[in-house]
Amino acid sequence: MILLDHVTKLYPTDPRPALDEVSLHIDPGEFAFMVGKSGAGKSTVIKMITKEENPTSGNITVGGIDLKYVKKRYIPHYRRRLGVVFQDFKLLPDRTVFENVAFALEIAGFSSKEIKNTIPKVLEIVELSDKAKKFPSALSGGEIQRVAIARAVARQPKILIADEPTANLDVLTKSEIINLLQRINDSGTTVLVTTHDENVVNNLRKRVITIKDGRIVADQKDGGVYRLDRASAEAKAKAETLEKLRAVGAVQDRAERIIHTAEEQNLASPKPSLFASDRPAPKRRVRRTKTVAETPLYSIRPTKSKKVAPIVTTSKDPFAAPTVSRKAPRTSSSPAAKPAKVLKPKGGVI
Ligand code: ADP
Repeated sequence: MILLDHVTKLYPTDPRPALDEVSLHIDPGEFAFMVGKSGAGKSTVIKMITKEENPTSGNITVGGIDLKYVKKRYIPHYRRRLGVVFQDFKLLPDRTVFENVAFALEIAGFSSKEIKNTIPKVLEIVELSDKAKKFPSALSGGEIQRVAIARAVARQPKILIADEPTANLDVLTKSEIINLLQRINDSGTTVLVTTHDENVVNNLRKRVITIKDGRIVADQKDGGVYRLDRASAEAKAKAETLEKLRAVGAVQDRAERIIHTAEEQNLASPKPSLFASDRPAPKRRVRRTKTVAETPLYSIRPTKSKKVAPIVTTSKDPFAAPTVSRKAPRTSSSPAAKPAKVLKPKGGVI
C-alpha cells in the first residue's frame, strides 16, 4: 500500500511547489499509471516514495511504514523493499547481464548461493536467459530495459516503480515491456508506472492518475485513458469558442446600438432611401368628403334636380300678357320636339 496524505514539496530553488497537497492511495496488488507532462511532478512523487527527497509537509506511508520515522541510516534497508526501474537504466556498462542483476542482489545482502539460484529464474521471467553473458553495449534498447526490470524485481519486492519504462522504445518492444510489467503485477506485486505514452496507457485500461503542475487533476480508477492532451485541447477549444461567442456578442451589441441610434435619428428626420419602395409617399391634397356623420340628416338622400320646363308664349302680340304654359320637356317621341321661341320682355317692367 502506498499512501500520500496532503503532500507538498517545495524545492529550495523553485518558488513553485513541485507537489501541492497531493493525496494518493494505491492498494496492494494494484497496477496504476501516473501520467503528466514533463515537469508535472511525477519524478518527485517517486522520490517521495523512495525517500530520495522528504516532503515539505504531509505524510507518506509505504507498506505500512510511516516514512517520517525512517532514519537516514535505515533508508537503504527500507529501499530494499522496493523495486525501482530508473529512466536512465543505471546499468553497469563493464558488467554482463548476469553480473548487473547479481550486483543488485549483493547490495541487498543475498548470499552467492541465493544469487546463483535466483538469477536464472529472473532472466527467464524477462526472457533474457540466452543473453546472460552479454554486456549492455551488445543489447537492444528493449533488452537493456528488461535487464533493468530484472534487476528491480530480483529481490521480489512488494512494490515495483517504473519511471518511463517505455521511453525511446519501438511499439513492439513497448508492448513486450508492458506485458512483462503485467506478468509481474499478476504475481501480486504492486506496480506504479509513470509515463506520457498515450498508446501504452490506452491499451491497458488500468488505473490512470493524472498529475498537472504538482496536483492530481484526475484519478480514473478503472479502464482509465490518457486524458491530459485531450483535456487541454478541449479546454483550449472551449476557451476559443467562448472568446468567439464574446466577440459575436460584442458585435451584436454594437450593431443593436447602431440600429437603435439610427432608428432614433430616422424618427427625427427621415433620410432618403436608395430604394423607391422605402421612400415615403409624397403628400397629396385629398378632397375632403363628408362622412355620414357629418352629413345633415335631411340631405342623406340627394334629390334629383327636376328639369323645369321653360315658360313659353303662344300669343303673337308682343304686349299681350304672356300666356303661361308649361310644356312638357321634349322627348324623342313627342311631335313638338322643336322648342318654341322664348320671348323676353323688352325694356322696362312688364
Ligand atoms: P516530472 O517528473 O513530471 O517531469 P518533476 O517531478 O521532475 O516532474 O519536477 C516537478 C517540478 O519540480 C518541476 O518544476 C521541476 O523543475 C522541479 N524540480 C524537480 N527537481 C528539482 C530540484 N532538485 N530542484 C529544484 N526544482 C526541482
